[in-house]
Amino acid sequence: MSTDRPLIGVLALQGDVREHLAALGAAGADAITVRRAGELARVDGLVLPGGESTTISRLLAAFDLLEPLRARVAGGMPVYGSCAGMILLAEKIIGGRSDQHQVGGIDAVVRRNAFGRQVDSFEADLDFAGLDGGPVHAVFIRAPWVESASASVEVLARVPDTPGAGEAGGRIVAVRQGRVLATAFHPELTGDHRVHRLFADMVRESLN
Ligand code: GLN
Repeated sequence: MSTDRPLIGVLALQGDVREHLAALGAAGADAITVRRAGELARVDGLVLPGGESTTISRLLAAFDLLEPLRARVAGGMPVYGSCAGMILLAEKIIGGRSDQHQVGGIDAVVRRNAFGRQVDSFEADLDFAGLDGGPVHAVFIRAPWVESASASVEVLARVPDTPGAGEAGGRIVAVRQGRVLATAFHPELTGDHRVHRLFADMVRESLN
């Protein structure tokens, strides 16, 4: 029964927590907020929401969650990071603050605020490897991109390389490495729950 509806936490220190809780529920998981080590210890998987990675990183340290979270990710707990969450999961970042902490888990370099200040947000339809049902409509908000990734990182989606896409064309915006999933965009905002379903399936698999 518990594997039918895995218990998935949403890190609730800052960011768009409610939208992820709703999307996880729609994707067949039981979802709870995580603010304390005791809550982190209970969940089968965790979502790191979008927000501000510098703030979330500071709060992770202040709430004594940074080391327990690193330990759970290293121990194989599935984790999904969206936008600021992707930044936190990168082993290395460009454009971060010097005192910003990384949770790590994806062997990639992620560029913060990569799409430029003048383009605060934009939307695009992405081919997303492994998801049936056509392109994923992706909302990017002061988003990062994956600048480079090691061979062990699976690239799931890129910005379409259309004329006019400029520097953004072809950039990697969704990746998976083992049980760690990350998107530069916000699937919790569109009502399309396929990415959350993919993550819920990753959590179920980890329990079998
Ligand atoms: N630019 C933000 C950061 O650096 C991320 C934006 C987002 O999560 N929507 O954390």
